[in-house]
Amino acid sequence: MNTFDYVRPTDIAEAVAAATEPGAAYLAGGTNLLDLMKGGITRPNRLVDVTRLKGLDRIEPLADGGIRIGALVRNADLAHDDDFAKSYPAVAEALLSGASAQLRNAATVGGNLLQRTRCGYFYDTASACNKREPGAGCDARDGENRLHAVLGWSRACIATHPSDFCVPLAALDAVVEIAGKTGRREVALEDFYRLPGDRPERESALDPGDLVIAVRLPAEARGFAPHARYLKVRERTSYAFAVVSAAACLRIEQGTIAEARLALGGVAAKPWRARAAEKILAGASPDSAAFRRAAEAALADAKPSGDNAFKIELARRILVRALTLATAGTPPRIAALPASAFSTASGALQDA
Ligand code: SF4
Repeated sequence: MNTFDYVRPTDIAEAVAAATEPGAAYLAGGTNLLDLMKGGITRPNRLVDVTRLKGLDRIEPLADGGIRIGALVRNADLAHDDDFAKSYPAVAEALLSGASAQLRNAATVGGNLLQRTRCGYFYDTASACNKREPGAGCDARDGENRLHAVLGWSRACIATHPSDFCVPLAALDAVVEIAGKTGRREVALEDFYRLPGDRPERESALDPGDLVIAVRLPAEARGFAPHARYLKVRERTSYAFAVVSAAACLRIEQGTIAEARLALGGVAAKPWRARAAEKILAGASPDSAAFRRAAEAALADAKPSGDNAFKIELARRILVRALTLATAGTPPRIAALPASAFSTASGALQDA
C-alpha cells in the first residue's frame, strides 16, 4: 500500500481546504474507499477523515415540509428512522435492499452517493479501464459484460452506478448540498452524475475538494408515500448489487394516477429517471396495459452494450411489477430483507 497523510479536520472549511490538494480523498464510512485502496485501484496521498465533522449526522425536518439528511447519517439509521420510513418508504426500502446489515451500519449517505462502479475490470488493475486510467481502453467491451449498462453508455465505458438509495432519490427530485472552495451550492441529484461520454473518469458534478454535506427531499415527495415501492433484482437474495431495479412512486386520486415518479437502477452510469414513462401514466388508470406502455417508453432508447440484451426486457418487467406493487399500496412495515421481485410474501413464484 502507498503511504498517505491522514488528517482529521474539525470543520467543513478546514476539510475542504485539506481535500483541495491533488490526490486527496475524503474518508467517511470507508466501505468502498478502503477496498479500493487495498486493491491499488485508488491511491490517495492524503485521507481527509470527515467522520468527526459536527452537524452532518442529523436527519432534520425542514420548515417547508421537506427533509434534510446529513451526509454522515448511516444508511441503517436512515432506513430505520420511523418518520423517514413512513414519509419516504421507497427510499427506506432501497436502503434496506443494499449491501448487508453490517455494511449499512457503517456506510454513510454521502458515501452511498459516491460509491464507485462494481465493474470487475475497474477493480482488476491488470485490465484496461478508461475510468481507472483514462485512455487505457475498456476490457469490459469484449469481456464479461452481462451486468453492464443498457442506457446512456459510450464506447469509452459501459459501467453502471451501483447505488440502490439513489434510484428513489432521483425519482423524488432529491437535491445534493455541496461545500467547496468557493462556498456552498446545490445540484439536483438527477444532474449530479455524469454519463461517461469520452471522460468516464469524471463521474459527478464534484470539483476537487468538494464535499457532499447533505441530501434534501422536497415536501411534495411525501405525497407519494401511500403508493411507493423499490424493487430490485439481484443474483442472490442479499448482499448483491442490482442487475436491474426500479423505484415506482404514484399519487393515485379517485382511481386514477394523478402523478407518477419513476427511476431505474442498474441500467446506466447514473440512476435513470424515466420521465417519458411518467408522462404516459399521468391521468391513466393504474392497470397493466398502462404500466406496459410506460415500461416500453422507459426503455425506448435502451441498447445492449454487450451480452446484456436480456436486461432491457428485464427492466421493463421490473418496472411493471414495481408499478403493480405500488398501486396495491405501500406495506405498513418494510421487511428488513425486501422480497424478491418475483415472489409473494409467502414466497410463491409469480409471473413478472
Ligand atoms: Fe472501466 Fe468502464 Fe470499461 Fe468497466 S466499463 S472496464 S469501468 S471503462
